[in-house]
Amino acid sequence: MKSLSASERTAFGLMFHHFSGPTDPGYAKGSLSSEQFLSVLKGIDTDRLASPNVFRESYFDNQGDVCVTFDDNLKSQLSVAIPVLEKLGLKAFFFLYSGAFEDTLPLFELVRYFASSQFDSVERFNSAFINSAIKQSSDISYKELAGQVSEVDYLGEFSFYSQSDRIYRYLRDVILGQELFEARIVSFMKDYGFDQSFAPNILLDRDDIRYLVKSGHEIGFHSHSHPTSLGRLDIDSQRLEYSKSKKILEDIVNRPIWSCSYPNGSYDESSLALMGELDVDIAFRSSPLPSDLKSKPQYEIDRIDHVDMPIYSRSKI
Ligand SMILES: [Zn+2]
Repeated sequence: MKSLSASERTAFGLMFHHFSGPTDPGYAKGSLSSEQFLSVLKGIDTDRLASPNVFRESYFDNQGDVCVTFDDNLKSQLSVAIPVLEKLGLKAFFFLYSGAFEDTLPLFELVRYFASSQFDSVERFNSAFINSAIKQSSDISYKELAGQVSEVDYLGEFSFYSQSDRIYRYLRDVILGQELFEARIVSFMKDYGFDQSFAPNILLDRDDIRYLVKSGHEIGFHSHSHPTSLGRLDIDSQRLEYSKSKKILEDIVNRPIWSCSYPNGSYDESSLALMGELDVDIAFRSSPLPSDLKSKPQYEIDRIDHVDMPIYSRSKI
């Protein structure tokens, strides 16, 4: 992992997802309380923390600013994290996928809820699903699968993924692919007698989003349906995902949207070209690792997952 030090004034975003508070039980792995959120922010030099508009301007001047970003339309970000930001007088980016405004909870969020409510740990969920999927395919054993993951060091650069997290994601993204994975995970949830009606209302609605904009926060797009590996899709499919998302969000907030984050940090050269086509000023990835693409750096801005922050917070950065 790329190391950060006080002398290295690289601009980047802090990436947050789930929070937990009195009205938000915080079911997802790594969800933060308001105290933990504040301590992550306190690990950053105050003069580096920048609100979205300032970050957009200063990014091009190499000021080394740090912005706060939230992905995935979660209500707990509004109820738990926003009061903390208000005390600090800081605004943030909210990267939203527009498919969340449809009637049903998107599958990836439903799976996250299922995993945490039906299993003692993420590890147990991972291995139960891996074993069930292997049984149905029967052309690969657990041992072979684990061997392949080690051989290619799949997601080995992300210290917060356990071995079973990496095998689960390899199976989902590389072996099965989106369509087959969705069929398998839906039938797996059915085996547990679990369906959509069990999930609580955890997503921001249109009024929440208008409230965020009125309060000075910035809305960016994050695709329409939040595919697991958007960067593997052809350019036309990517264009549809991003342009639809941008249009739906602009209709809600009634102003141009100029920022984006790639879902699951998955993007390629086509995604970068689309950012220009869609008049995006800055776009964020999901890691601080070096990129292989020859790109415009404003479309590959680093982000650090809060899960990785404690290793940096021994001294302020
Ligand atoms: Zn996301």
